[in-house]
Amino acid sequence: MISQELYRQVIMDHYKNPYNKVDNDVDGYLKREALNPSCGDHITVYVKYEDDVVIDIKFKGTGCSICCASASVMTNELMNLSKSEVIAKVEKFNNIIHNADESNLSDFEDAQAFVGIKSFPARFKCAYLSWDTLKKLIEEVN
Ligand code: ZN
Repeated sequence: MISQELYRQVIMDHYKNPYNKVDNDVDGYLKREALNPSCGDHITVYVKYEDDVVIDIKFKGTGCSICCASASVMTNELMNLSKSEVIAKVEKFNNIIHNADESNLSDFEDAQAFVGIKSFPARFKCAYLSWDTLKKLIEEVN
């Protein structure tokens, strides 16, 4: 069992040095904006999706450490998956943070760090925002 301290460190590392974060709009990507008014998180998720595979994900925006770290983690966890795989994995992540369901933890890498969020219900939406946004983007594609 990994310690809460290590989880906290993983989250802070992603917050300070995010993966796949951009400062400006990127061309040729599907895009969707998302807001979490209760916290002030405001992000935009970009995805390049071809032949039923997510081939690239980027995000832009500002928010709390949980939101920004989770978006960075999400871009790694959902890369190179098909639509059905994205939907299934986002549902598993949803179960981890909302229901503290640890049965699928081994399917994740750094996203495991968010299992500790169960102690902070006010932050559920921060952690889930980017994942939900990518899922909605992919679901809109035929
Ligand atoms: Zn937040």
